[in-house]
Amino acid sequence: MGFVRTSYMDGTPLLAVGQTVTNDIPVTFANPGNVTEVWLEALAPGTAEITFSFIGTGNAEGFNHADTLKVMAQEPEIQFKAMDGAEANSFHVAKWENAFDSLNILKNNFIDIDPDRFRVKVTDLRRTEASISINIYTGTSFSAEKVVSLYRQKDGTYLSTNLLLVADNADESYNKGRLLLADNLGYMAKAEYKHDGVIVTNTFFIGANIKTATVDFAVMILPGTTNLCVNLERIEKDLQVTKERFMQADIVVQKGDVRTFMAPPLVATNLSNWTIRLGNDETNRILTAEAKAVVKAANPTLNGYCLIYVPSLRSVPNSNAWGSAIADYYYKKTEDADYLGNSFISVAADSFTPPHELGHIWALVHSVNMPWNLMHPQTFTGGVTGTKRLTEVQVNTIRGKIQ
Ligand SMILES: [Zn+2]
Repeated sequence: MGFVRTSYMDGTPLLAVGQTVTNDIPVTFANPGNVTEVWLEALAPGTAEITFSFIGTGNAEGFNHADTLKVMAQEPEIQFKAMDGAEANSFHVAKWENAFDSLNILKNNFIDIDPDRFRVKVTDLRRTEASISINIYTGTSFSAEKVVSLYRQKDGTYLSTNLLLVADNADESYNKGRLLLADNLGYMAKAEYKHDGVIVTNTFFIGANIKTATVDFAVMILPGTTNLCVNLERIEKDLQVTKERFMQADIVVQKGDVRTFMAPPLVATNLSNWTIRLGNDETNRILTAEAKAVVKAANPTLNGYCLIYVPSLRSVPNSNAWGSAIADYYYKKTEDADYLGNSFISVAADSFTPPHELGHIWALVHSVNMPWNLMHPQTFTGGVTGTKRLTEVQVNTIRGKIQ
């Protein structure tokens, strides 16, 4: 015998007046009083055998019969499945690994080939329709809500298509139905399934083995004025874009100090023409006195990671730059060692420049053939609209650099 798929809310009773209890010796269930239906309340999931019995009285004296019905009570359930089909309770913000073809165009099936893809499975033996829907909440405090369809694998078993976590609206816009916006790492996301007054939820973590990097911001005061070369809203935007990009690496970028500083005299008198380095290769490449003076003014302890905003930036004479990082693989002379970890950001830069320069600080070199990569030499995309990715190799390099 199979199971009876029923519920008090929308199902049919196990037995109603007029129905036959058994097909062995048919006995009709007659109304013995107020009882017109037989229901079974399951207090916990499991299987049971219930016995219906009839003991004749009066004219039916001597007619006795009993028969049994096997029942199974099942609690609806939500599970999360990693790419290999195994159950999982944490997922990464996707790197869109292998998402771009040799012409650097996003592949149509990029979600279905991403190693960070996952699916949601719902088991509810009451359901037989072709598809059902659930809600997934991925924002901090479950703020971002999305309705996701699940499709019948067999009666009672439903599975979503592949889904990915992304960190910003521009990335999400590539496929609103299957890309889930996560706004922070280390938070829980929740899936919620509702049917017949029963609500079932399950949660998973956004990110795993999360590391934290604190970054200071220093803004030059325009010489001869009290004005900052960039306003503090710009700092917040750059911080936000930086946080979003490094979510792919399971790294939380935290805002440290925000300082302002006066241009040192060497630079104040030569604001649009000072340069950062001398020498072209690692045997003779060094920071200029101007660059060192700016770093000292911006980050007096020389400790930590600091993004230093300046009105104008030239790596070498006549070569404007949006950003320039004092990375250890680039400045190898011992005289520059104290200045490592700082990066200059020009007011002309876009908001991908700060995370790009931090990528250099965290040991990444340029990815010249991948315009979609955060480490492509040109960060500018006509505005900050994504998608700037990191590869798994880059992620591992950065994570090896950050303690
Ligand atoms: Zn660069």
